[in-house]
Amino acid sequence: MTTHVLAIDQGTTSTRAMIFSRDGSVVASAQKEHRQFTPHPGWVEHDPLEIWDNTRAVIAEALSAASLTHRDIAAAGITNQRETTIIWSRVTGEPVYPAIVWQDTRSQDIVDRLAQPDGVDRFRSTTGLPLATYFAGTKIAWILENVESARARAEAGELLFGTIDTWLLWNLTGGVDGGMHVTDVTNASRTLLMDLETLEWAPELLAAFDVPRALLPTIQSSSQVYGHASPRTMLDGVPIAGILGDQQAATFGQAAFDVGDTKCTYGTGNFVLVTTGERVVRSSHGLISTVGYKLGDAPAVYALEGSVAVTGSLVQWLRDNLGAITSAPDIERVAATVADNGGVYFVPAFSGLFAPYWRPDARGALVGLTHFANRGHLARAVLEATAYQTADVLEAVAADVGTRPSGLRVDGGMTANGLLMQFQADLLGIDVVRPRVPETTALGAAYAAGLAVGYWGSLDEVRANWREAERWSPTMRRDEAERLLRNWRKAVDKTLGWVDEDVR
Ligand code: ADP
Repeated sequence: MTTHVLAIDQGTTSTRAMIFSRDGSVVASAQKEHRQFTPHPGWVEHDPLEIWDNTRAVIAEALSAASLTHRDIAAAGITNQRETTIIWSRVTGEPVYPAIVWQDTRSQDIVDRLAQPDGVDRFRSTTGLPLATYFAGTKIAWILENVESARARAEAGELLFGTIDTWLLWNLTGGVDGGMHVTDVTNASRTLLMDLETLEWAPELLAAFDVPRALLPTIQSSSQVYGHASPRTMLDGVPIAGILGDQQAATFGQAAFDVGDTKCTYGTGNFVLVTTGERVVRSSHGLISTVGYKLGDAPAVYALEGSVAVTGSLVQWLRDNLGAITSAPDIERVAATVADNGGVYFVPAFSGLFAPYWRPDARGALVGLTHFANRGHLARAVLEATAYQTADVLEAVAADVGTRPSGLRVDGGMTANGLLMQFQADLLGIDVVRPRVPETTALGAAYAAGLAVGYWGSLDEVRANWREAERWSPTMRRDEAERLLRNWRKAVDKTLGWVDEDVR
């Protein structure tokens, strides 16, 4: 009897395996960090073999912690740090180069070249994305141009490209002995190489990026049996049946399936996804159009996404660079020593501003300081910065889709902060709700896999599993919320255009 579903959550800093039961609760989990390599400013690499080793280790550990074996597992799903790029040999299984991580900006020259003469929105109508180093296609191009003999080997059909989902699936299903070379629509939608409507690799994009077709995996849905785990893994014979990029997985784990359903993950950065249904909504307000999920043969469901670079990491900065708090949770106590922000606003444009501003020329600023301001106000300004930035993204969503979300489903480390969640509800004027199972990313991958094999019967069953744990309702007057937002936007204005030839 198969009684559980396993999810592999391969993130930027660590790899987790989590085992879920039918009601969506976590039965066991195991986690292992991997090394971060930063050989030059702006470069970030991972070792793909270390990630594969860690994946096997956490699967074994989680199974053992739950006293289960592969015979108890109905299906396994994969969710992953998106855009991180690996190219390896189908003959030896060896990567030709380390994984180039999503944060890595080395492909800026390629972006600049491709953006001539039409600008960064050159491929937006086909892909939903602006040209940016963030997306996998520019990283593939960099490897083909810079790693010795990579292009010739790719053209000869010896090499395979994959984001982390593809790398893990290929290895899990046998590697050099018949491993499946497949990705799902959500991961493929982050490469700059897939047509968002046809869900196929677009020949004109492959030509523009000079990427041989033989390098690319087959694009499949997010929920179907891609293959079975090889006997050489702890999951011997288990169907691998779900793949979702991490933010899409969190959205799925939040059961945000319907048009207008909105979730925000509060981690080191914030990610808002809004489900837009079976049609692509193209943003004219600084958001990205992306695939939310696709279940088997059913039509794809799309989403709008807005990412904010610095939220939880500003709390870490306050702790590590200023020593103003002793731990991340300590910020709540310090912020609660004052009644409001005392007129202080902190715009954490440490690496420019992401959605919806997209201003690389902005830099961080603390404004509104007076003799009155103290450590409490600073802590409060740090927390409020997360809420203002999220409000800015939701404003862009409203402008693109024409309606405001009726509530916000939240997850991630910062949602432990009640003061922040209350302020978020106050600012938005809508309810903010946190579910019972906070591990929404792994849960989403488990759901995608379990649905494919009938472990869960329908989306309704998944919806019924979603339980509210905590709810924050707005209590602030709207005119006060609007005054705060106006001041925040004034503060944002002060940060724009800071980077010029005098700034290094
Ligand atoms: P990620 O998945 O991006 O690594 P997590 O979801 O684990 O992030 O959240 C970690 C982030 O949340 C850290 O940046 C940390 O500073 C922040 N954080 C954790 N707990 C709190 C808290 N109680 N209040 C404010 N921020 C917090």
